[in-house]
Amino acid sequence: MLDRSYFEGLDSADPLAHLREAFALPEGLIYMDGNSLGPLPSHVPAAVERTVKEEWGRHLIRSWNERGWWGLAERVGERIARLIGAPTGSVVVGDTTTVALYKAVSASRHLRPDRPVILTDTGNFPTDLYVLGSVAEKTGARVEAVPPEEVIDRIGPDVAVVSLTHVDYRTGRRHSIPEVDAAARDAGALVVWDLSHSVGAMDLDLSESDFAVGCGYKYLNGGPGAPAFLYVHPRHQSEFHNPISGWWGHVEPFAMEPVYRPASGAARTQTGTQSIVALAVLDAALDVFEGVDPRALRIKSERLVADFIRLVDERLPWFEVVTPRQASHRGSHVSLAHPQAGRVMAALIERGVVGDVRPPDLLRFGLAPAYQRHVEVWDAVEAVRGVMENDAWRHAPARSGPVT
Ligand SMILES: *Cc1c(COP(=O)(O)O)cnc(C)c1O
Repeated sequence: MLDRSYFEGLDSADPLAHLREAFALPEGLIYMDGNSLGPLPSHVPAAVERTVKEEWGRHLIRSWNERGWWGLAERVGERIARLIGAPTGSVVVGDTTTVALYKAVSASRHLRPDRPVILTDTGNFPTDLYVLGSVAEKTGARVEAVPPEEVIDRIGPDVAVVSLTHVDYRTGRRHSIPEVDAAARDAGALVVWDLSHSVGAMDLDLSESDFAVGCGYKYLNGGPGAPAFLYVHPRHQSEFHNPISGWWGHVEPFAMEPVYRPASGAARTQTGTQSIVALAVLDAALDVFEGVDPRALRIKSERLVADFIRLVDERLPWFEVVTPRQASHRGSHVSLAHPQAGRVMAALIERGVVGDVRPPDLLRFGLAPAYQRHVEVWDAVEAVRGVMENDAWRHAPARSGPVT
């Protein structure tokens, strides 16, 4: 049986423990929703104030050339490239994940015009499914969604592109990037990975993969609506057909030429002017990961998740663990099924443990290795136990508001 002192011991031996101090998390709050919105790193407000007051306020338009606004989207992309194991010059930041995915899947389809199928899995994130539907509609393809465990067997000569989210937002189940990539390569199909629930929580190696996108505001802590990233393997860069050609993807935007000539490299995936303020937030937030080995994040994440699941097994008989039991098959959050998930989570949030719920019946606990303390795993599970044993959840209001 585990006890609280076991977790205190893990914290004192944690090589990443110092990263916690970089965050402005409220005292006494156990935050397990970083897979939805990462917390604020303490130094970000000052960095943003510099961008706004000094660069925009004092230097105005000169900041594009003199304060590094030009090229910022690629420099931030470069910092993310390190976290996803991508080669230099292949990642750019600026659109939302949804738009970045639209571009990557469109470009893939453009490279495989004779193949009618866009393949995905039935658990994929809704926005990803919507985007695939819209690419299919515009390019005369059809979307086929199969259960996650059947994806590899379904990849065949009729598949143009396989579009998958690496870690399932509901269950935490994880696809194998090398296995899917290999199956697609053998069949001549392309793969677009969505790394929204992976980047910042684990080591990744996209060096052989075709395309990837990912979210800036989850484990990367880039703030609400942070710019997302788009990765294009160098072998596809010169043939990347941007479906929304705009001046920022032009080889020389300020030549103001009437005819579109795409830039080289990942820069050609861009469309319009990025939000420099949003990029400044994300750029500063990424300082937290400076010098951090993504492998160390993964090691800690595995420990957090394994211990959480073990404690649920030992102490929370009311829940079914939906997250896979095998470490290599899961990401960095734990999902528990309960018919009254919404009320249970509301009661927990009232007690200072913040996770979230996903329909129909899942409670999610995101365990972010950059700032989670091991002892929070113990304390969170004890809070759940308290809520269940006192029946406190029965009195909790169903949560309200459009965002869950
Ligand atoms: C969070 C998330 C998104 C977010 O998309 P936005 O366009 O940035 O709002 C997309 N896909 C997945 C898999 C996500 O987890």
